[in-house]
Amino acid sequence: SPRLEDKVSIVTGSSSGLGRAIALRYAEEGAKVVCADLKPSARLPDSEDNNIETHELIIQNGGKATFVRTDVTSASDWKAVVQAAVTEYGRLDILVNNAGVGLEALRPPAQVHTTDEDLWDKTMMVNSKSVFLGCKYAIGQMLAQAPHQSGDRGWIVNISSIMALIGGPSNPSYCASKGAVSSLTRQVALDYASSRIHVNAICPGYIQTSIFKETTARETTIEDLQRKHPFNGPGKPEDVARFAVVLASEDACWVTGTSMVVDGGYTA
Ligand code: NAD
Repeated sequence: SPRLEDKVSIVTGSSSGLGRAIALRYAEEGAKVVCADLKPSARLPDSEDNNIETHELIIQNGGKATFVRTDVTSASDWKAVVQAAVTEYGRLDILVNNAGVGLEALRPPAQVHTTDEDLWDKTMMVNSKSVFLGCKYAIGQMLAQAPHQSGDRGWIVNISSIMALIGGPSNPSYCASKGAVSSLTRQVALDYASSRIHVNAICPGYIQTSIFKETTARETTIEDLQRKHPFNGPGKPEDVARFAVVLASEDACWVTGTSMVVDGGYTA
């Protein structure tokens, strides 16, 4: 039977890449999905179903979804998207903090002595502050509602990166922003363990999305990446989405505060 039946989820950055794959997978597993992104569709030129917005595709496949325009750096947008989950589906069980940027990709490579202060601040806002705000407003709702039938009050899945653990070339603000995601995950998990809210992170290796395409050409070759991910080369968004299901399901009944590495053996 579906593993997320009757759960209500918010997935940020749902219009492309990992977020889209997670939203689609959650819907397949029976979750209702509030898709939250700056715009409903990224319309990636090389995606097979690029003309269909994520929430529309879910509805077409017989699932339940809605789109709420959300800037994850805005507290008022967070209040609105949590409220939308409650108004539309009655509660909120799962939050996936996935939206993120690798702004370095848009500029020449920068080491710390050449990194713009402005770039640092933007990366921290979108990748780190967003996770604080998401936890703040989602947990407020999770504490206010009756627990899920499992006895748990909620599941939070933060998308960090292997860069939080090992660093990476010429992207200090990105690595630090993901380090903050992994350490906040541990801290929030501790505070809400007695309330039975699970808080975990996933640290993906290189996944073939738009961020990946922008950075790969600059940093490395595809052959190099094949070698560094000994299990099957760089990943697909679905590889991360499948693991994100586990962390939002009862299969994670005794799991909280972790940063799970999902990287085809990159850090092995
Ligand atoms: P992507 O660019 O395909 O998708 C990111 C999505 O986030 C986009 O739809 C974008 O519109 C949205 N977004 C950006 N800023 C936003 C904001 N302020 N408010 C709301 N939405 C916003 O990238 P992706 O590769 O799917 O990345 C998703 C997450 O996975 C990011 O947190 C990224 O750091 C992380 N990650 C990616 C990789 C990889 O190799 N692709 C590896 C490790 C971690």
